Amino acid sequence: MIGYRCIACATPQTADYDGFVCPACGNNLDVVYDYSTAAEAFAQQLGSQPVDIFDYAELLPVAEEASFPLRVGATPLYAAPALGEFLGLENLYLKDESGNPSASIKDRASAIALRRASETGAGIVAAASTGNAGSSLACLSAALGVRAVVFVPETAPVAKLTQLLSYGASVLAVRGRYDDCFDLCLTACEEFGWFNRNTGHNPFTREGKKTCAYEIWRAFGGELPDRIVVAVGDGNIISGIWKGCCDLQAAGLVRSLPKIDAAQSDRSAAISHTVNQLRAAGNDVTDWAHVEIDKVTADTVADSIAVDQPRDGLAAVKAVIESGGEAVTVPDAEILDAIPLMSRFTGVFPEPAAAAALAAIKRMLAKGTIDSAERVVCVVTGNGLKDTGSAARAAGRPTVIEATIEAVRAHLPRIVS
Ligand SMILES: *Cc1c(COP(=O)(O)O)cnc(C)c1O
Ligand SMILES: [Zn+2]
Repeated sequence: MIGYRCIACATPQTADYDGFVCPACGNNLDVVYDYSTAAEAFAQQLGSQPVDIFDYAELLPVAEEASFPLRVGATPLYAAPALGEFLGLENLYLKDESGNPSASIKDRASAIALRRASETGAGIVAAASTGNAGSSLACLSAALGVRAVVFVPETAPVAKLTQLLSYGASVLAVRGRYDDCFDLCLTACEEFGWFNRNTGHNPFTREGKKTCAYEIWRAFGGELPDRIVVAVGDGNIISGIWKGCCDLQAAGLVRSLPKIDAAQSDRSAAISHTVNQLRAAGNDVTDWAHVEIDKVTADTVADSIAVDQPRDGLAAVKAVIESGGEAVTVPDAEILDAIPLMSRFTGVFPEPAAAAALAAIKRMLAKGTIDSAERVVCVVTGNGLKDTGSAARAAGRPTVIEATIEAVRAHLPRIVS
């Protein structure tokens, strides 16, 4: 790591800068690297089994010997031929992030943020969260013996709250929205000197998430697919995945880059609105410092992507526009339907936000945006067990029977059909 550059105005900072945002304009920072040693180290990884995200320490803001007591990353990339055939795609893959320690992709960011926190000697780490970033921080902090404080909306799904409390974090359930939690966490960190893991605001969150792209590259034997489809709320995952792809190009490790598609609920679509407005106006933005990101009042069943004011919005909009991807919005009903659809054809059970990516793939196929031969990776960002209440709305009900073989026999026609 050699320094930082502002996402909006490109002002550089040296590596010892200890703020999180650009002192000139207040926007988020991008971490800058020297790519000269990465190519060789990464090429060696191609021939071996993935261990965790620290396989890629050359391009992470941590010491090269960094490790973690829990296995973060090294998640599977599954081919999904049956789901692909059902949808009309010859090469569909699922990058299943539900196998991370706290069952979402957020662990990639939390692990890097916690490593940075320990390097700066911070005693307490804090985060605002719709649920997953907090449960991730609580989980990984528990593994390190670090104190975590998490601000969540009072309305977060019960599984996520239970997870947080079980890991022993101080959970502050805020009477307000995610956006209120975010601002409150910022103020509390300033006031009490806590290390802030807030998504986007903390520049190391994007760095953790980019390792997902490195793993996709490695699973494809040193190539990237044609498209990566990602659910978007704050925009940190999508911008991280695009950063990872661009890193690989900067290190000379890939010939072509994928399109990165943003999947949002039409009830929480700030980033999609902005992308589509920019495209309508000519799609040839070079002056990112003057791009305004839309704000909405989010109200979607997919709580992990319910965001009024995206906190890594500019980086996310850049990811879609620079990669030539689509910003797709889907109704909540299609998000819910995508939960059993993915589960039945693949055995991977997504939470609503993760299912939004599949719902977006369906929409793009219906519009003819995706060609059936393209290699498409759907990122399954979080596990379905995190919000069974929503999944139950689409899964249907079991058949209740008497405990007799006759009752089973009476049901046979439906089982074997
Ligand atoms: C956080 C999260 C997202 C959205 O990520 P952003 O960085 O906020 O865009 C999507 N899916 C799941 C499961 C998440 O936890
Ligand atoms: Zn700036």
